[in-house]
Amino acid sequence: MADTDAKASNFIRNIIDADLAANKFAQRRWSGQPGPATSLKVSHGGTPSEIDTAKIRTRFPPEPNGYLHYGHAKSICLNFGLALDYAGACHLRFDDTNPEKEEQEYVDSIVDAVKWLGFDWGPNLYYASNYFDWMYEFAEYLIQSGNAYVDSQSADEMRASRGTLTEGGKASPYRSRSAAESLALFRRMKAGEFADGAHVLRAKIDMASGNINLRDPAIYRIKRATHHNTGDKWCLYPMYTYAHPIEDALENITHSICTLEFEDQRPFYDWLLDKLAEGGLLQRPLPQQIEFARLNLSYVVLSKRKLIQLVEEKRVDGWDDPRMPTLVGARRRGFTPEGFRRFAEMIGVAKADAWIDMSVLEGCMRDHMNETAERRIAVLDPVKLVIENYPEEDEELCEAPNHPQKPELGKRPIPFSKELWIEREDFAETPPKGYFRLFPGNTVRLRYGFVVKCTGCVKDDTGHITAVHCIYLPETKSGTPGADSVKVKGNIHWVSAKHAYAAEVRLYDRLFKVESPGAGGRDVIDDLNPESKRVITAQLEPALKDAQAEERFQFERHGYFVADRIDSKSGTPVFNRAVTLKDSWTAK
Ligand code: ATP
Ligand code: MG
Repeated sequence: MADTDAKASNFIRNIIDADLAANKFAQRRWSGQPGPATSLKVSHGGTPSEIDTAKIRTRFPPEPNGYLHYGHAKSICLNFGLALDYAGACHLRFDDTNPEKEEQEYVDSIVDAVKWLGFDWGPNLYYASNYFDWMYEFAEYLIQSGNAYVDSQSADEMRASRGTLTEGGKASPYRSRSAAESLALFRRMKAGEFADGAHVLRAKIDMASGNINLRDPAIYRIKRATHHNTGDKWCLYPMYTYAHPIEDALENITHSICTLEFEDQRPFYDWLLDKLAEGGLLQRPLPQQIEFARLNLSYVVLSKRKLIQLVEEKRVDGWDDPRMPTLVGARRRGFTPEGFRRFAEMIGVAKADAWIDMSVLEGCMRDHMNETAERRIAVLDPVKLVIENYPEEDEELCEAPNHPQKPELGKRPIPFSKELWIEREDFAETPPKGYFRLFPGNTVRLRYGFVVKCTGCVKDDTGHITAVHCIYLPETKSGTPGADSVKVKGNIHWVSAKHAYAAEVRLYDRLFKVESPGAGGRDVIDDLNPESKRVITAQLEPALKDAQAEERFQFERHGYFVADRIDSKSGTPVFNRAVTLKDSWTAK
């Protein structure tokens, strides 16, 4: 599925290019299975001395505690995209070292979302919790080599002695514990002899460091929690900052790409892996952490906490509500994987935080669907058009192209009869200036059909227009020699009333009405766009009755729509608007 156009260069590609030019990974060995350097001798099923054939290895490491969102799509496209471009491999790794709230439902939805975006991890699907034994062994090594100690201060004491940004920290009285004493305590921690929080294992680095993350960070804590994979085997869990570099190294990752907030953690990442390599537990070259700016999108909220609030307070119809910035939501909305990949390519990767306007993402979706979606006719706000001089019992077929720029997609017949549905706004009893559509005495073309002349309208007792009347000019049918005999300025769409398919159509728009929802201490709820969802019954051309779930169309003059993948039944699809034909927000 690799996109064919050349990829723009960026600082990450420059790093990879330089590493490859320097042959940095030439001597790297990989058993084909995650593991420490020692496991190259103990076969895990792969050929131990095999030279890694992948030129580079990246990974996408989600924590299975929520649904993926637009921001994750940027990271997925980046990591899998680099692997594709450089004949490398990208691992899908569930970062499930935290025993809190990790569920199969999330694992499944993440697998689906990455596949949906068009990426394939091949055999490289991993769970970080499978590495707990190695993480523990490595911790014992750190203790034995004088690089870690058990601290028995309270959490408050530890916080108080950590120092500030400008002032160094104070050493814990337990820092000078002997390795033997720490090791014995650590083993008893593992055996469950102590209460949660009674002791922690800390790396022994530098309490005076200007980087707080190097002031003896905690690497293991006691926590009695059942883990979804390892059950109650452990009452001791590694901290994320300790676990993550090890996961990368065990999987032989070459470039570990993460978001900017981990920049200050990089020295610890390097320190840790270096110590473990010194001890022969890991092989060099070690993975390298590279940070890039996360995706910030205007009009969109990506914070997990706020997304949970929207779902729990039922402000949206669940995680896959088409207005949600989740990938399951995007999929129901009709957004396309190709659109996301283009978006990722277009915004690129940079080192500095920036905001991208939502119109850029919508534009990528629109452009892709403009190229690929077949055209169909839909009347969203219908009013009858009665053709006075067309025989009641007659009907005939007109022809409409499926795609104006792609004649190879062919044409389809659309039935024409005496009564049609047209858009209510395509008639005006008294036309405003510059109005070229239907008004009494005016002629317009019924697109792909005939030229008609408006004769008036019918109203009910309240003055509401119930039908528009006209006569048609039989010699003006589109595609026949007489089609051009009458010149008109207006061109409107229609569907035959007796053939039309009346369907539920959801007109979705942006979930938030302001650029930075929740800014300035406001509750995001106050920034919701009250018009983000409108459900209507539209009159659609009959061909749309056969639309398959997830099939996308341009409804002419309206926008891009998809047959909802959940609510569509065979023969009665319902449609969601993905994006309008034009951007109406940027102008506002
Ligand atoms: P949290 O850490 O709050 O649970 P998260 O969104 O960071 O949530 P992870 O599962 O840790 O979720 O993220 C997986 C990967 O996606 C990480 O590598 C992270 O850097 C990346 N990622 C998350 N949010 C964004 C974003 N807005 N832009 C780009 N990458 C992102
Ligand atoms: Mg995270």
